[in-house]
This record gives sequence, structure tokens and C-alpha cells, in this order.
Amino acid sequence: MNEPATNRWTTETITSIHRWTDALWSLRIIRPAAFRFQPGHYVRLGLPVDAQESVWRPYSLVSAPNDNALEILLVLIPGGAFTSQLMGMQAGDAVLLDRSCFGFFLADQLTPGRTLWMLATGTGLGPYMSMLRDGAILNAHERVIVVHSVRVADELAYADELSALQRAHGERIQYIPVVTREPIPGTMNTRIPQLIQDNRLQSEAEATFDPTTVRVMVCGNPDFTAEMRRLLVDRKFLPCRRNAPGSMLFEKYW
Ligand code: NAP
Repeated sequence: MNEPATNRWTTETITSIHRWTDALWSLRIIRPAAFRFQPGHYVRLGLPVDAQESVWRPYSLVSAPNDNALEILLVLIPGGAFTSQLMGMQAGDAVLLDRSCFGFFLADQLTPGRTLWMLATGTGLGPYMSMLRDGAILNAHERVIVVHSVRVADELAYADELSALQRAHGERIQYIPVVTREPIPGTMNTRIPQLIQDNRLQSEAEATFDPTTVRVMVCGNPDFTAEMRRLLVDRKFLPCRRNAPGSMLFEKYW
């Protein structure tokens, strides 16, 4: 028997919107006290279209589980049913929140390793922010290297927070921004898979892609995740299966 719809979601208030660019926002809403998740999970947010119907979209959580807000990082899609409505909204407005959290992009799917690469394009950075804010990820890996590839520098969301984490944790956390469509002195400007093929990322981080000690998480553009899967399979990384942790884990967006 289906649950009544009102039992499947709650109505929550937007507490803040941070606009990194016109099309890239971080949105915070109140977290209901009963809403629990692990870093890497995603939520479903909804906006009413009319009295009967709502439009729903999945978004990875950026906030840590103990934050009293739920934070997401999103791209506004021109003409998109959800984001066109969101565009006119502000703090104090309401969104619908599915009571469940979803997904398997969870760090405990990986066997513990010495070095963890967190590779992201665009909004794919989101789940890593949740893991780093939570901090438990550092119990399973000696070093975490976060690589974030965006088109233009303004899209380097959370760059200041990541730089501060790097300063606070010394060599245990390293942040490597990549900007592919504008020249930024001192910043790499080539797509991540090519940087790995050329050994440039490994040189920058003084790390390897050796599956015996290294674990890799990949999140973002679906073409990027497909390319990374081929590259890592060639290097003998193992996928995560139900009840069998592996050495590489993927989340593809949209
Ligand atoms: P993006 O086009 O995914 O680019 C972000 C970064 O990923 C750039 O550095 C880009 O490099 C790189 N990249 C793209 N394809 C790659 C590949 N195959 N291998 C390696 N790196 C790759 O940018 P975005 O801002 O995240 O999103 C772009 C568009 O995607 C948006 O305008 C939106 O329409 C759509 N989008 C949709 C959703 C959704 O939920 N529906 C979510 C996010 C984005 P280059 O500069 O070389 O391309």
C-alpha cells in the first residue's frame, strides 16, 4: 500500500543562498531533527508546479551530518523545470524535502588505503565537502587529495574552505583546482583524465595511481566518470560491489 504523499516529504525553509556565479548556487535549508544521512548521500528536493504536482530533483549533500542545515551545490539549468522556479526564490521561501536520503557514494564502500583521490568536475565536488566537513574520512586514509575541475575560476566553489582545510591538516589534505577555459597563472588547465595520463597530477601531488595503496572516488560529468572508469580499470582498480568493497567508486551527475 502506498504511503500518503504527505508522509513522504516535509516542507522546509531556505535559510541562505550563496551565489558563486549566476548559475552556480549553494542552497541551505533547515534540516529536520529526524533527518539523518551519511556524507555522500543525496536528497530529493521538490517544488510545487500546481495544486496537484511537484517537480523533484536529486542533489548531493555538501553539509556534514551534524550541521543543523542541509546544504547542496547546484547548477541552474536555463529553462529547467526545477531551477527556473528556484531562480526567483530567496531565504525564507519553502521547498519540499523527501524524508529519505539515497545513494551509495559512501566512503565505506572502499577498502581502507593510504591515499584517497577525490576527483570532481563542477558540482561533483559536493559530496567530498560533506566528507571533509565530517572528518571521518581521515580515519580510513592517511592522505586525501581533492581535485576540482571547472571551466572558469569563479566556479571554484568552496576554494577558500578547501585551502583552509589544507592549511589546517598539513600534508594530510591537498586541494588541487583545475580551470580549463581560462588561463590562471599557477593553476592547471587540462582535463583531469589527461593530467593523469601525462603524470602531471601525480607529480603535483607527489602521489600515484597504484591500486595496492591508493583509492579513487570520481564524481561529476557523466563523460568524465566514464573516461575515468576506463582509465582506472586499465590500472587494475576494482569496483565496489555489494558486500565487496573495492578501490574505485563513481557517482555520475545528470
Ligand atoms: P562541465 O561542462 O561538466 O565542466 C566542468 C569541468 O569538467 C570542466 O573543467 C570541463 O572541462 C570538465 N569536463 C567536461 N567533460 C569532461 C570529460 N569528458 N572529461 C574530463 N573533464 C571534463 O560543467 P558544469 O558547469 O558542471 O556543467 C555544464 C553544464 O552541464 C551545465 O551548463 C548544465 O547544463 C549541465 N549540468 C546539468 C546538471 C543536471 O543536474 N542536469 C548538473 C550539472 C551540470 P572543459 O572545459 O574542457 O569542458
